[in-house]
Formats: sequence, structure tokens, C-alpha cells
Amino acid sequence: MKSVLSEKALQDERAAYAWVEARVWPEGPICPHCGGVDRISKMGGKSTRIGTYKCYQCRKPFTVKVGTIFESSHVPMRHWLQAMFLLCSSKKGISSNQLARTLGCTLKTAWFISHRIREAMKALSIEPLGGEGKTVEADETYFGSTDTPRVSKQRRGRPYKRGHQTGLGTKRAVLALVERGGNVRSFHISHADSATVTNIVTNNIKRESRLHTDESKLYIKAGQKFAVHEKINHSVEEYVRGDVHTNTIEGYFSVFKRGMKGVYQHCGEKHLHRYLSEFDFRYNNRIALGINDVARTEQLVKGIMGRRLTYR
Ligand SMILES: [Zn+2]
Repeated sequence: MKSVLSEKALQDERAAYAWVEARVWPEGPICPHCGGVDRISKMGGKSTRIGTYKCYQCRKPFTVKVGTIFESSHVPMRHWLQAMFLLCSSKKGISSNQLARTLGCTLKTAWFISHRIREAMKALSIEPLGGEGKTVEADETYFGSTDTPRVSKQRRGRPYKRGHQTGLGTKRAVLALVERGGNVRSFHISHADSATVTNIVTNNIKRESRLHTDESKLYIKAGQKFAVHEKINHSVEEYVRGDVHTNTIEGYFSVFKRGMKGVYQHCGEKHLHRYLSEFDFRYNNRIALGINDVARTEQLVKGIMGRRLTYR
């Protein structure tokens, strides 16, 4: 059996460019400067960089990197593809340290590459989840500790002491919604309160859906807006009642938390939404939907355009 890692596009720079070009430009190169598609020639000189084209309409050179997450980076294209494949195929993610060792690059470069890839993983669809006859589960989880603990009124202005910040207010909160047999959408929320939860739940789930949650008060207001709101009562050890449960979303959280604990231990809170994009992406392109590691990487390429970002 041939290893996926021996794929030519992961080894050879010209093959890597050709692989990306075939996906970004299925009908041939497009000039990113003037939008022209005619009178474009591939530059073939020995001193020309791989993948350079020249547009004879605006007389400017370009490569497939322009206007994508690859722009203005000196990282070889085959390394980008290796990193994309690794992030797509590792269920709990891959740390920048590991990526740096595997690619033989600096930690800084590995961090840069992986955050840009997460940007490409960000969902393109803003269509609400669910619909008539469909079930959407909503739940929150708390983990790690927040960078900005909520200080109680009584303690405001007094010296900070460890131990005074207890309870869920000191943890990072994530709210996630999952359509059974469909997609997940997760959100980092600074405060898990009814207003925040109601806002997210009602804006991201179609009203005709059946909403399944636990007995938490956070969902009472949002629940009234849906066709059906079923609650499972975890506090009395009820976990399944007919088809009423929140096991799908709990399964998602379990992978997410194992990844954040085991792989991404030192994630800054301001970057948390990017890691959520990563876990959402893999879930939404999962093997149960017939999407294998290679197909998932192909899917990721669709997100590389128009996602340039700088992180400083
Ligand atoms: Zn042009």
C-alpha cells in the first residue's frame, strides 16, 4: 500500500504548486492584480521562482500564493501542504512544537503556518443549522482558566489573591451547537449567561428545529423560540430518554478537550476561536460523512483564498 506521505505534491516543489494551482484555478490561471485570464504566460527562466506567471494585460508577475493564506511567506509550498495534511489528519490537532520538528522549521514559522491554516478552516457558511424535523443539540463546556478572571464587586480594587477566583467564572467557556448527522458550530464566550446563549442559539439554529439541551437555565429563553425544546436532566442522572439526549455534542467536546489538554496546552485565550475553527472543521469533514484524510485536505484548499491575515 502506498503511503499518503509519499505523494509527489508533498515532496516536490513543482508538483506542490501544480497541485494547488489545479484547485485554485480549475480553469487556468487568473491574474490577481487585474482579474485577467487571457494573455498569461508561465515564466520558465532558470532564475525565475517556481510557479511564477506573467500577465501581459497589466504586465505584472504573480504566483498562486497571491491573495491566499500562503501570501508573503517564504515557506515552501510542499511544507504548507505537509502541514495542511497533518492538521487535517490528526484528530486532536498537532502542536506547533511537533510541526516544527516534523517540517524542520522554527517554532515561530510552525506557529505562523498553523494559525493561517486554521484561518482557512474557518467555516464559510453562515446558514443556520437544523430545519424542520431536524434535531440540534446545544451545550456549553468549561475548561482551563481564563486570562481575565471575572472579579466580584466585593473584591474589585483589592489585591488579587489566588483562591478568591473560584467557580465557572474563572474558566474559559465554549458554547457549541451540533445538528445530528450534520455540522457543528462552536463559540468562545466570555460569559456564559442567558443573554449571550440566547443570542447565539437563536441566530444559528432554524426555528423549525427540535432543540435538545440539558436542564440548564441558560437555555430556557432560547428554547421558547423553537418548534420543540427537549431537556435531559443530568442532575438526576438522566442521560437518554427516547431520542432525547446531548451525547452528540458531548462527544464533540470530549475530542476538543482532549486536544486542548493534550496537544494545545498553552493556547492564549485570544486565539481560542481559531482552535475551535480547527476542531469544527475536522468534525464537519469527518470520516462518518465519507471524508477521509486526503479528501479533508482537498476540502481545506477551498478555504485558502481570500483569507490573508497577519498576526501582529
Ligand atoms: Zn493582470
